[in-house]
Amino acid sequence: MTADLNRMTHVTGFGLVTGADSYLYRPTSEDEVADIIELARKSGRQVTLRGAGRSYGDANIGSETILLDISRMNQILHFDSAQGTIDCQAGVTLEQIWRHVIEDGYWPPVVSGTMFPTLAGALGMNLHGKNAFQAGPIGNFVLEYDVVFPNGTRRTLNQNSPLFSKIISSAGLLGVITRVKLKLKKIQSGDLRVLPISVPNWQAQFAAFEEFNDQADYMVSWIDCFARGEKAGRGLFHTAWYLDDDTDAPLSLRPEHQDLPDTILGRFPKSTVWRYLKKLNNRPGMRFTNWGKYLSAKLLGNGKPHPQSLVGFSFLLDYVPGWRKAYLPGGFIQIQTFVPKEHAPRVFAEQLHLQQEAKLESFLGVMKRHIPDQFLFSHGVDGYSLALDFKVTKSNKERVWQLAHAINDLVLAAGGKFYLAKDSTLRPEDFKQSLGDEAFAEYARLKLELDPDAILTSDLAKRLLLDPRSVG
Ligand SMILES: Cc1cc2nc3c(=O)[nH]c(=O)nc-3n(C[C@H](O)[C@H](O)[C@H](O)COP(=O)(O)OP(=O)(O)OC[C@H]3O[C@@H](n4cnc5c(N)ncnc54)[C@H](O)[C@@H]3O)c2cc1C
Repeated sequence: MTADLNRMTHVTGFGLVTGADSYLYRPTSEDEVADIIELARKSGRQVTLRGAGRSYGDANIGSETILLDISRMNQILHFDSAQGTIDCQAGVTLEQIWRHVIEDGYWPPVVSGTMFPTLAGALGMNLHGKNAFQAGPIGNFVLEYDVVFPNGTRRTLNQNSPLFSKIISSAGLLGVITRVKLKLKKIQSGDLRVLPISVPNWQAQFAAFEEFNDQADYMVSWIDCFARGEKAGRGLFHTAWYLDDDTDAPLSLRPEHQDLPDTILGRFPKSTVWRYLKKLNNRPGMRFTNWGKYLSAKLLGNGKPHPQSLVGFSFLLDYVPGWRKAYLPGGFIQIQTFVPKEHAPRVFAEQLHLQQEAKLESFLGVMKRHIPDQFLFSHGVDGYSLALDFKVTKSNKERVWQLAHAINDLVLAAGGKFYLAKDSTLRPEDFKQSLGDEAFAEYARLKLELDPDAILTSDLAKRLLLDPRSVG
């Protein structure tokens, strides 16, 4: 038995920097998933799991492996509008879920900045949203899920199962999630009340998060990574609340009210916008864009609450389809680091300073507030995260990696954590240290028990020595 050569496909991480050739298989049932694992075992190959391919780096690609793409397992199996639960095959996306449930007054309990991830990928990474400071990651809202283990067993895990919090977050390295039952959030309106606050520096950023921590439903802030000195850390903080007094609720809960507009500024077809972005996608262009964004945020609507659709607020990055192409030909990486609250002001300021010294400022900076959680590869801390996008070119790649290592060192020294969905640059010892000896030993024990032949892997797993076959 061998993997079919005709299935050889090139796939990339979302940032387009990393790519791999693999044998693409797209099962439609749990039995087919088990067959693919068996095929891998018999043909001596390994398997890489992939959802919608929205992880930025190399977590969803595997060179010369069988790529098990879950996206055709996309059936919503049951929606219980009385209990507020939804049962889905694991390839169902966040977009499918909100479209299915919103008219009955429900919303996914946690969403990422894009609506395209599958539930499998969402659980694989245990994604967080702009409500991370009170809701934690999506795993907190999973009621049960089915998983096929490479050792040949199949299980349904619920919150009482010891394995429940281990498979969620484990980056597709311990088992294949095939079905997920999720608790939904009850909402009274399809709109949020959104309050934008222009913030002049780091101190004001952290003060804004502290001020709204106990009263907001969502918080997120944009950082202008080009601003220096006293202006360093300036940006635009957003907080938002669910509405419970919306007289237009029946309208706002319709999917068509949520749909993002086809044009930007009422004029430019969305599908062409990345071409304009590409022209600005260089250091001077982005310095100007960030400055313009800060200025307009300060002068327009600052401090004035306004209604905004849940989709518009949650999935801002989906406004511009194909925006990542603006980073071609080299692509980009994202680094999101998580730092305990007592160290975050200093560590974030130093991260910014390092970028500016290296003349490699992030074109987009985003800050969020988080809480700790109990999942195996947890990225949760009682603190803050800073996500940074770096353009990669042939000539700057080495320097970008040096900068990333310096940033990662700062985070490690402060007891911080990393998020594998956003990682391309960690060294094995960095991830191991951030995880801690106990969690790392637990992972190694589970890998041996659930995947004794090390069938599940990825290029990330090989880079971070999480694949026993790559340890030597
Ligand atoms: C524009 C943008 C904004 C984003 N915003 C956020 C955000 O706000 N918060 C956040 O947390 N993340 C965010 N992300 C990251 C994204 O949510 C995660 O990378 C998520 O895992 C992507 O899901 P996916 O279906 O694309 O999975 P993939 O990226 O394809 O895979 C993710 C992981 O899941 C594993 N996996 C895939 N299928 C299975 C399976 N069946 N069983 C077990 N494991 C499996 C893969 O091996 C991989 O390790 C963002 C990404 C983008 C592109």
